[in-house]
Amino acid sequence: MLPLNEAVVIVVKSAWRLGVESVPLPQALHRVLAADAVSDVDIPPFNKANMDGYACRRADAFLELRVVEHVPAGAAPSRALGPGECAKVMTGAPVPENAECILIVEQVEETAPGVVRFTGSELQSHISPRGEDVRWGDVVLHRGRWLQPQDLAVLASVGCAAPHVSMTPRVGIIATGDELVPPESLPSTAQIRNSNNFQLAGLVTALGGLVADYGIVRDREEEISAALTRAFEENDLVLTTGGVSMGDFDLVPGVLERLGFETRLRRVAIQPGKPIVFAVGDRKGFFGLSGNPVSSFVQFELLVKPLFFALQGAGPQTMVVHLPLSTTLRRKNAERTAWAPVRLAEDGAVTPVEFHGSAHHHALSHADGLVHYPRGTLELPAGSIVPVRLCRWG
Ligand code: AMP
Ligand code: MG
Repeated sequence: MLPLNEAVVIVVKSAWRLGVESVPLPQALHRVLAADAVSDVDIPPFNKANMDGYACRRADAFLELRVVEHVPAGAAPSRALGPGECAKVMTGAPVPENAECILIVEQVEETAPGVVRFTGSELQSHISPRGEDVRWGDVVLHRGRWLQPQDLAVLASVGCAAPHVSMTPRVGIIATGDELVPPESLPSTAQIRNSNNFQLAGLVTALGGLVADYGIVRDREEEISAALTRAFEENDLVLTTGGVSMGDFDLVPGVLERLGFETRLRRVAIQPGKPIVFAVGDRKGFFGLSGNPVSSFVQFELLVKPLFFALQGAGPQTMVVHLPLSTTLRRKNAERTAWAPVRLAEDGAVTPVEFHGSAHHHALSHADGLVHYPRGTLELPAGSIVPVRLCRWG
């Protein structure tokens, strides 16, 4: 059975690159930057007042000072400061030449009209020098960055109003299984509701992908084949759930091969989620994920996500924290690396949630992440520092 790290390499190496487009800044959230963003300005663009007060020379700070002008934000000082002079400045305004510090308004008194004196004892600069944060020509964000809300502010500040980003992956989702009914139906005997498509659609959407949900198809080769053919026409990546194990109706792998896809993964040493199909066609990717919702969730996190980002020229965006475990966790078999849902308590302790196995997706709604058992490890002792993959989106 293939170890996870080798499986991830196979997946990422199979990635082709989606095209590039330029989008208006408000649409750039959760897109991947396709070119370095370079600043066309110094930031701050001038020596900038960070407080309302009186700008002066440092040597003059404790003398009586003549107020020579007022500089609001958005205005430019008209002249340099001479000895014994100060300028009243507002937060965000450029300070005059020669100004070395700002005496904050709260600590200044007027001793005569147009004359002020510092009443504080400690002098602070309160001036940000030009280019302190960013210099003209600096790369402020590198290509491959998965854009977060704060990055939009950075792009705006360097004049990048229409960044070049990778095209958004289009992801088709199909549920397979004769037992499945849609959420609006009450399942009769032997039926269950399709929950996987909604979970996968949520995962893709949260990462910035475009989802096409093709609903449920029966365990019949022709139906699966027709649904897949359509989904491949309309998407870059197609995810199915169910039908990839060794049961009599696990038809997905055969259908894929008949559609001309090359299978690159069939079983990976992870628990849950061992049976999985990863196959590639001409600039098309396919994952046949487990039917069990916790398994397909874990498979998405471990294997689909790296491909989703590789298509856009980005790394896998995994968030792993290392925190102490509150109670000992055990498992019976250490052949595979395993993941179990855990909560992060307020003090940061990793706390297991009640978990009955890979069909128990309700456990995921009580979890903040997945604790990781390395291969060969049967027990994670209380108090040990354990890795947790965070599973929260926004
Ligand atoms: P399979 O991989 O097809 O053998 O399915 C494994 C388990 O997952 C079975 O108990 C299925 O009923 C269940 N399952 C399959 N598809 C879904 C789905 N779309 N939503 C929820 N459970 C599913
Ligand atoms: Mg099935």
